[in-house]
Amino acid sequence: MTARTSKWPGIELSADDLLKGNVTQTRFRPNAKYAWSAGEAMSRFLEELQNGRLIARTCRSCDRVLFPPRMFCEECFRPTDEWRIIRDTGTIETFSISYLDTDARRITEPILVGVVSLDGASPKMGMMHYFGEMTKDEIRIGMRVRAAWKPAEERRGSVLDIRYFRPLREGES
Ligand SMILES: [Zn+2]
Repeated sequence: MTARTSKWPGIELSADDLLKGNVTQTRFRPNAKYAWSAGEAMSRFLEELQNGRLIARTCRSCDRVLFPPRMFCEECFRPTDEWRIIRDTGTIETFSISYLDTDARRITEPILVGVVSLDGASPKMGMMHYFGEMTKDEIRIGMRVRAAWKPAEERRGSVLDIRYFRPLREGES
């Protein structure tokens, strides 16, 4: 049989006790600031975004090109081998037509988001991003797209250094 505690030891405080100042209270505003390391692979990935380039890691054991880059191959259980710049073109793997914005507010003009598999990376290696220069009626799985980069001076080493992925244009490869 399980013993249940119906009453905890000690003296319970009521809201009244707090309001009337029957107990000592203290308030403080913590000045909490955080910094953390993105790690070797993610740091390089973000740096290269600022340069307008996408970088991956290769594993010569399974012959895969890992994107976003990782320092460890989860298939082979070994460190990956080399850096490789890949193209900024790819294929829409999946997408959503969202009538909620990033603050979960309802919007009338939907945003298009989804996953792009990048050319030069192994299959199903991609990134989540926005899609632009296309409507909700035009977007489709398998569509060929290219990164629309912010101007160099506006890049900050963030995935948002790419504004969105747009359709490949006529004659573009
Ligand atoms: Zn591997």
